[in-house]
Amino acid sequence: MSDNVRNVIIIGSGCSGLTAALYAARANLSPLVIDGHEPGGQLSLTTLVENFPGFPDGIQGPELVDNMRRQAARFGAEYMPGHVVSVDLSQKSEDGRKKPIEVNLGREKLFSRTLIISSGASARWLGLPNEQALIGHGVSSCATCDGFFFSGKEIAVIGGGDSAMEEALFLTRFANKVTIIHRRGEFRASKIMLDRARKHEQIEFLTDTVVEDVLDVGKNEVTGLRLRNLKTGEQWDMPASAMFLGIGHTPNAQFVGDQLDRDGDGYIVPQAHVCTRVPGVFVSGDVADRRYRQAVTAAGTGCMAALEVEKYLEEIGK
Ligand code: NAP
Repeated sequence: MSDNVRNVIIIGSGCSGLTAALYAARANLSPLVIDGHEPGGQLSLTTLVENFPGFPDGIQGPELVDNMRRQAARFGAEYMPGHVVSVDLSQKSEDGRKKPIEVNLGREKLFSRTLIISSGASARWLGLPNEQALIGHGVSSCATCDGFFFSGKEIAVIGGGDSAMEEALFLTRFANKVTIIHRRGEFRASKIMLDRARKHEQIEFLTDTVVEDVLDVGKNEVTGLRLRNLKTGEQWDMPASAMFLGIGHTPNAQFVGDQLDRDGDGYIVPQAHVCTRVPGVFVSGDVADRRYRQAVTAAGTGCMAALEVEKYLEEIGK
């Protein structure tokens, strides 16, 4: 088996995993990156990134992540499509001997001395009765992917954070009118993003309002939203051709189970820096970060995880 044991497997190919891959590759560790179900992570679903240092005029998210991918590949990082179903971090076989970390892709199992978990976080849904049935028919969590289909239409964006503002601003390229629907009167969005949205003539705001359902599953397309004002209790139907979600994310850590510490929302909780309670297993990026969640912080912790891998392999004499 030892021939098949990698030095390091990196789960996730967002900017955290790719930065880890770059550092591990430059340390001659031949990292293997498992792409995951959203190759490129959240950057691949975004448009102009204006706050990644080094790009004074901004850079498109997909271009930034593709650059990182090619940069790591140049030093020997390998990529494998696939989705991790489970991992076995016990590193002990039945006879008590040390065995490698096991990464189960369903179709095959991979083995490694170390693991970096940088599987990110995925968009959240509202959980409305008709929401899932209308995904791809007007319900979307990705403005970049689906905005184009709603040229000249009136659409809604749900949420009060930066994601919602960013989606709404982007969608004004296509839609005639974008209504941001937020359940409170206060916003989590940064002042600059909120101001941009407020000043935009195609954007309107509906606050203290929740979506009770999305219409019309019978027609197999979005025709409107059933809304309720939380202060007055008033309920009404608002015509709309699409509903875009911008309500935050859920960490992709289900495959870990209870082998690592996780908080109430499922985020992995490191013990110190990027180190988990399991020797040789490190965590980086949004799967362990509910606080900062920026491309640059994800990249930073990816670098840290790769440096920890190097140190750990040295310590175990590999
Ligand atoms: P977020 O800041 O957590 O905001 C999520 C929003 O969705 C909140 O307004 C929340 O309402 C609302 N929400 C959550 N669950 C809901 C539900 N079930 N029903 C209705 N509304 C719900 O998430 P985010 O906007 O994705 O941002 C995450 C991080 O990424 C932030 O640090 C942000 O700055 C960053 N980010 C930055 C940029 C940029 O700089 N260009 C772009 C996107 C994201 P409440 O406020 O009532 O909780």
